[in-house]
Amino acid sequence: MKNTDTHGSIIPSNSYKEPAPITDKENPFESMMERFDHAAKILGLDQGIYNYLKNPVKQIITSIPIIMDHGGIEVFEGYRVIHNDILGPSKGGIRYAPDVNLDEMKALAAWMTWKCSIVGIPFGGAKGGIKCDPSKMSKGEIERMTRRFTSNMLDVFGPDKDIPAPDMNTNEQTMAWIMDTYSMHTKRTEKAVVTGKPSILGGSLGRREATGRGVMIVSVSALNKLSINPKNAIAVIQGFGNVGSVSASLLHEQGVRIIGLSDINGAIYNKNGFNIPEVLEHVEKNGSLKNYPKADEISNEELLELNCDLLVPAAKEDQITSHNAHKLKCRIIAEGANGPTSANADNILQEKGILVIPDILANAGGVTVSYFEWVQDRMGYFWTLPLVNERLERMMDEAFINVYKSAEQYNVTLRIGAYILAIDKVAKTLKIRGIYA
Ligand code: NAD
Repeated sequence: MKNTDTHGSIIPSNSYKEPAPITDKENPFESMMERFDHAAKILGLDQGIYNYLKNPVKQIITSIPIIMDHGGIEVFEGYRVIHNDILGPSKGGIRYAPDVNLDEMKALAAWMTWKCSIVGIPFGGAKGGIKCDPSKMSKGEIERMTRRFTSNMLDVFGPDKDIPAPDMNTNEQTMAWIMDTYSMHTKRTEKAVVTGKPSILGGSLGRREATGRGVMIVSVSALNKLSINPKNAIAVIQGFGNVGSVSASLLHEQGVRIIGLSDINGAIYNKNGFNIPEVLEHVEKNGSLKNYPKADEISNEELLELNCDLLVPAAKEDQITSHNAHKLKCRIIAEGANGPTSANADNILQEKGILVIPDILANAGGVTVSYFEWVQDRMGYFWTLPLVNERLERMMDEAFINVYKSAEQYNVTLRIGAYILAIDKVAKTLKIRGIYA
C-alpha cells in the first residue's frame, strides 16, 4: 500500500482503500473521525460528500536520504497529507519527531481544514512531518534533511498550492530553509511559500505569540459567558512551550491567577498564583520549570485535577481521556494543544458540565496570523503589531460567537458545534464547485 520513492511519491485517495490500522482505541485520527461522524449525522451530510471529506485528497510518503556528519548516509521518512483544498491552498505545519506517522498526519491535516473553515480564512488543511529525532542531530544534518524534504516536495508546496508552517521541533529557521530551497528552484524569492518565517524574511509581527493570544481571547470570552470576571479567575496550564507560556503571560496580564504550570520535566503549584514574568525568566535561565523556587512540585496527573476555573492543556495529544476526565475539577477547558481530549473523554466532560473550547477554535490564532503573513508577503506591505493583534482579536471573537451560536442551535457541545460549522461551510463550497470528472 505504501508507495515510496526519493522524489516524493503521491498516493491518490482512490488508491487508498483501507484505513490505516488503528492500534490505540483513542488515537487522534479516531477521535477526529468520531466528532466528524457526529457532526455529519446532525447535518444530514450527503453520503458522497461525507466520503469526499472523510478522506485526505493527497497522502505523500517520501524517502529523505542525507549525508550525516559522520560521512554515512541515513534515510528518513517524510510525510505530507493534504486533507482538503476546497476553500483554498492547503495550510499546515511540519513536525520533526520520532513518533511521526501517517495516521497522526491525517488527523492533524483534517483539523487544519476545520480550523481554517471556522475562523473564515481561505485555506484548506494539510500537515507534514519527518520521522526523526532532531535532539540527536546536528544543525547541519537538520538543514540538509529539511532542504532535501523541500526538494522532494517541490511539486506539492507553493504559495497557491500548499503552504507549510512550523510545528513541533521546527521553527523560524526551518521555514527559512524551506523558503530558500523552494526559491532556489523557482529562481525567484518566494516568501509566501511558508509562514512562521523570521520577520526579516517576511514573517508577520505577532505570529510567534498568535496561538497563545488566541487561547487567551477565547478563554476570556468563555469566562464572560459563565459570568466569571477574569480578575477573579483561577487557571492551570499544562505545557510551557510556545502556546503554554504565551497563554500564561497573556492570561496573567488579564489578571487571571495561574496556580499550576507544567512542562515535560514536571508540574509546579502555587496556590497564591505565579508571577509569570518571573517564571519566564527562570525558564530562560534554566531551560525548564524544574526547581522554580516559589512552588511545590506536583505530578502531571495532580496538575490536571486541580480545582480551577480554566484549564489550558497546551502540551500534546491525549492528555484528557476516559481514565482521568471524571477527576477534573475545572469549569472551562481551552484546548491550546491539538487533540488533548479524547472522544471518550468528551462525553464525561459534558456530563460534568465542563465547557470545552475545542482545539479547532481555541488554537486557531496561529493559522489566522499565518494567513495574515501570507497576505502581507503577497502584498509586499507589512502591518504593525497593533494592527495584527486587533485583526486577530476580531476574527477569534467572531469565530467564538459563531461556534457558540451553532452549539446552541443544534443543542450540542461547543466541539460538535464547531465541527458542524466547519463541515457545513466546506460541504457547501464543494457542492457549488461541483465534482470535476
Ligand atoms: P512546544 O514544543 O513549544 O511546547 C510544548 C510544551 O509541552 C513544552 O513545554 C514541553 O515541555 C511540554 N510537554 C511535552 N510533553 C509534556 C507532558 N507529557 N506533560 C507536560 N508537559 C509536556 O510546542 P507548542 O508549539 O507550544 O505546541 C503545543 C501544542 O499546541 C501542540 O499540540 C501543537 O500541535 C499545538 N499547537 C501549536 C501551535 C503553534 O502555533 N505553536 C498552533 C496550534 C496548535
